[in-house]
Amino acid sequence: MHSEPARGQAFSLNNRRSPAHARVPSVVQSLHTHAVSQVPFSVEFNPPRDAAGEARLWRTVREFERMHPAFISMTYGAGGSTKDRTARITGQLAQQTTLLPVAHLTAVGHSIAELRALVGSYADCGIRNILVLRGDPPGDPLGEWHKHPDGVEYAEELVRMVRDLGDFNVGVASFPQGHHRSPDLATDTAHLIAKLRAGADYSITQMFFDVEHYLRLRDRALAADPVEGAKPIIPELMPITSLRTVARAEELSGRALPPRILERLHRAAGNGPEEDRAAVRAEGIEIATEMAQRLIDEGAPGMHFITLNFAKATREVLNNLGYHVTAAPLSA
Ligand code: FAD
Repeated sequence: MHSEPARGQAFSLNNRRSPAHARVPSVVQSLHTHAVSQVPFSVEFNPPRDAAGEARLWRTVREFERMHPAFISMTYGAGGSTKDRTARITGQLAQQTTLLPVAHLTAVGHSIAELRALVGSYADCGIRNILVLRGDPPGDPLGEWHKHPDGVEYAEELVRMVRDLGDFNVGVASFPQGHHRSPDLATDTAHLIAKLRAGADYSITQMFFDVEHYLRLRDRALAADPVEGAKPIIPELMPITSLRTVARAEELSGRALPPRILERLHRAAGNGPEEDRAAVRAEGIEIATEMAQRLIDEGAPGMHFITLNFAKATREVLNNLGYHVTAAPLSA
């Protein structure tokens, strides 16, 4: 069990890293090795709420294991029991699969001492890759942000902390349309560059539905700092599978979908008393395929898919793109 260091105490995980930990590739290395013939893809999972959800997650994880993503990531929620389950499952992903896991680390509700202990527990499981985030207020992602009295205010401080703790490969969040709390895009870009200068190796974007927003973010980052801004910006995609997923996408991103995308989905849903789910799903997969193809053509370093813990939609998009991910679903 990892003991918590006192706040401000000199602390390093270097002496506790196992030889196996040193051999774990970084996300950036994995993107390079996976990019031999195709743009690499990666996937994001969410912590399951109960035992049934956990069983489903593991089936999905095993399916993706046979599709060889460059890495997988597990989001981190601030809620009590989910928090403990998240840390446990993230550790198991490192120890019991052939996948490269990235642990999301958020500042919400945590003191610096607790954050250090959490990083230590991830290192103990052989996790070297951490996506550092400030996190959203629990319950309402758009609600007011309150710093923990002994915690950090911004992700930038957390990047420094994780880098000081050991040889971690650190990712951060980037926002194609700007973070909803940023006054303007220039300020938003400056804060992204500050996180990269603090030691982040790459960023993963918030999901978006207009590739132009991603391309403009890339331009802004490069113009703001030709060195830091050239670090990989991995676009995040979420295939829409129902009108309910549209609401989820808008809630997660804090942004409305572009009208032309909404129009396509609503046209597919039809005018009947019930949504034509098969048609909406097909249209959502087509939209994600078109976006992914454009991102590939524009030289994106990878594609990070939000899966909501299902493999099918991501597999369909990848198959449409000509990826060899035809692995049949595992039986339950
Ligand atoms: P920060 O970089 O700290 O930015 C927060 C706000 O403060 C921004 O408006 C920024 O412009 C501003 N800011 C930054 N630095 C300064 C400064 N020095 N002075 C003044 N203003 C500043 N949330 C979760 O709870 N769990 C997850 O697992 C999770 N995973 C995510 C994965 C991805 C790929 C993305 C894109 C987001 C994820 N989020 C997650 C959501 C994220 O935590 C929220 O969007 C959060 O509101 C911002 O996080 P951040 O790390 O960008 O914060």
